[in-house]
Amino acid sequence: MILRRLLALLVLAFSVRAQDVRPLTILHSNDLHAHLLSDDQGRGGFAYLATAVREERARSSASLYLNAGDLVQGTPVSTLYRGLPIYRIANRLGVDVSTLGNHEFDYGWLRIQNFIKAAKFPTVSANVVDGSGALLAGRPYVIKSAGGIRVAVIGVLLGDLVGNLATPDKVGPWHLLPVVETVRKYAAEVLDKSDLIVVLGHIHDEEADAILQQVPAVSVVIVGHTHKAYAHLHDFDGRVGALVTAYGVELGRLDLQVDMTAHRLKSAEWKIIPIDARKIVPDPRVAHQVAHWEAKVSKIVDVQIGEAKRRFEKKDLQMLIQRAMAEETGSDFAWVNLGNIRDVIPAGPVLARAIWNILPFDNAVVIGKFKGSQLPPKVREGQSIDSDREYTLATTDFTASNQASKDQFGVSGLAFPKIAALQRDMVIGWIKKKKILE
Ligand SMILES: [Zn+2]
Repeated sequence: MILRRLLALLVLAFSVRAQDVRPLTILHSNDLHAHLLSDDQGRGGFAYLATAVREERARSSASLYLNAGDLVQGTPVSTLYRGLPIYRIANRLGVDVSTLGNHEFDYGWLRIQNFIKAAKFPTVSANVVDGSGALLAGRPYVIKSAGGIRVAVIGVLLGDLVGNLATPDKVGPWHLLPVVETVRKYAAEVLDKSDLIVVLGHIHDEEADAILQQVPAVSVVIVGHTHKAYAHLHDFDGRVGALVTAYGVELGRLDLQVDMTAHRLKSAEWKIIPIDARKIVPDPRVAHQVAHWEAKVSKIVDVQIGEAKRRFEKKDLQMLIQRAMAEETGSDFAWVNLGNIRDVIPAGPVLARAIWNILPFDNAVVIGKFKGSQLPPKVREGQSIDSDREYTLATTDFTASNQASKDQFGVSGLAFPKIAALQRDMVIGWIKKKKILE
């Protein structure tokens, strides 16, 4: 009798425990960068991503799809229409929550308000504030319900946005609050209103790790910005961070077991789903909308400007573009940072579209005159320079205004008073003259 009772209690205890743990799948992408179409290797494309999201959702009992910023900037539709069509098309991807990336500022901060208005999904960003403390995105977090789990999603953006990743004219009256402190503040605010706290961050990998290490109330960080997928899930005492490759070539799938009593993860399994356009059936409505917008730009960008004898990776293109800028401006040197180069040139006919994808930014080329001794070390490297001779140096207006950043010259005080043409037009013009790239 006693034994039977004990057994019943045990069964009850187990069933209570079992009920306390609920499954949740978080699908995630980052840095889609307006790559509406698949790349030259059949990877990515919004219509294929939409299908993958739908199929993965069908394989989950409860799911959320989070997008970690930099939705716009990267292809001609975004550049020519200043990002807005990308938000319209993204409305059909099934995004539950998105956050701002640094490139959302590329068309000026006022444009971000149009993005937020056009989006049918909420955009959260907790640390972009003005002098009065008002938030650019309007809301720091949302609380979504999925499978009976109240999931708080807090958005954050790179702490060093201004002066490093965006020029002050684009950012206007907004400034960035420290990432970890801001997350800590809002995590405390949502603690009693949620069962699981997720940070959706367009942030450096180190910032993501710092959140996991320093704010234990946060169970998950979905990351964007680096463009390069994590080799494995970042795990700090069962709190996890995930990041997938940019341009929609991958979708992340994080399968969680959420302990509803302890408000923490019981387990987390992560996998990366390749968006393979040769295997996935495109979502017809998204495909239709993509075709509609691509048709508008096709006349301008789908024209052949030359031929590539081989594939040019980003490093090769950095050299090529520097050469084009130096030759076109008659400068002694030209310098661009690797982050300026956003895509590759496949072997074969070169379309203007490739250069739009490589140089989506409306950067102008600017020129300055400097004594050899004043040239930044990154420009002097590998060159024989006469310290007293005067040299001309071409770069972009973006590099010139963020020159002190370690990703740029890493020095300040250089003046570039002369403005030449738009960088993209200059490179297209140069390739047209060269005809063959080898
Ligand atoms: Zn990005």
